[in-house]
Amino acid sequence: MEQINFPVTFVVLDLEWNQPIPNMPTPVSPKELPGEIIEIGAVKLTMRSENDYSLSSPFSIIVKPEYYKIMNRQVSRVINRSTDDLRHGLGFLQAYDMFLKWCGEDYILCAWGDSDISILKSNLKIHNQPAEVNDRFLDVQPLFGRVAEDTAHQRSVSYAVDFYRIPKTDDFHNADRDAYYEACILKEVLIDYFVMTEKARQEGTKDYPNLSQYISNPNLTTQVHWKSNTYPSEKDAVEDAMKVKLSCPICSFELDPILNWFSSGHTWLSLWQCETHNTLTGKIRAKKTPQQSFYASGQLRFVNGNAARHVHEKWQEKNEKKSEEVELPEKQAEM
Ligand SMILES: [Zn+2]
Repeated sequence: MEQINFPVTFVVLDLEWNQPIPNMPTPVSPKELPGEIIEIGAVKLTMRSENDYSLSSPFSIIVKPEYYKIMNRQVSRVINRSTDDLRHGLGFLQAYDMFLKWCGEDYILCAWGDSDISILKSNLKIHNQPAEVNDRFLDVQPLFGRVAEDTAHQRSVSYAVDFYRIPKTDDFHNADRDAYYEACILKEVLIDYFVMTEKARQEGTKDYPNLSQYISNPNLTTQVHWKSNTYPSEKDAVEDAMKVKLSCPICSFELDPILNWFSSGHTWLSLWQCETHNTLTGKIRAKKTPQQSFYASGQLRFVNGNAARHVHEKWQEKNEKKSEEVELPEKQAEM
């Protein structure tokens, strides 16, 4: 588990991007480039102790798009920019380089949700760069949910701003303003987090969120796949696939289960923990062979806090349903 050593710098990133126009030919596949970055905004939150925080002045840079040069109307409605505006700005690589210099050396990259990171990676790839970003990433959205409301609902930035009564000084959807609001929210979340942790410590309970579980390495994209033997029944194939001892694809450390295998529709899901590389999710599906027998295929991959919460939710839903149907003598699944 990661230990927090003060001071810690959080770089809160907020990107704005343009999207392809529906039904219009695009110079690149929208699958490869779902959105092209047109603005990079960021604010640094420096934490010197559990109650000493400071915000930097915002970083903001306008990026001139190379692929999606016509403003998508839906996007324009949200961020209030026109096609004319897209003729100005720096090239992406130059702008990104300035951003990285501004970030400095040792920091935790943060954003609201995980879409900024995936858009950033796709933009790096399209410019022939390795799709690698900072190796510590904190998604503020699920952490806010857990700390502020103990919910897995995906709240908007403006919801969280209202929740903490952060004074609104400007419209949303301008990258550096959004980054500023997100940094203010993160500060409130961290203050609450340390109060919760301290209270849990005094009361000797373990029921508090673990900050390090929300920090993931977005560059760990390694996936592991495996297959069961073939069986006449789907059930046997799935059970066989579950017997595989799972280890971390990076360090080979044997994984501890956070949630053991449970079925969700036609899929079986699970959550695992590597001490060094954090949370992974497992997925098993049964498949039919042309000879009408069955095998099961398994997949193990790294997940961020948000996706892990999602698996937790499915598990909870299932258990709630179960307890409505029949009274179980004891809870079957292990936590
Ligand atoms: Zn590992």
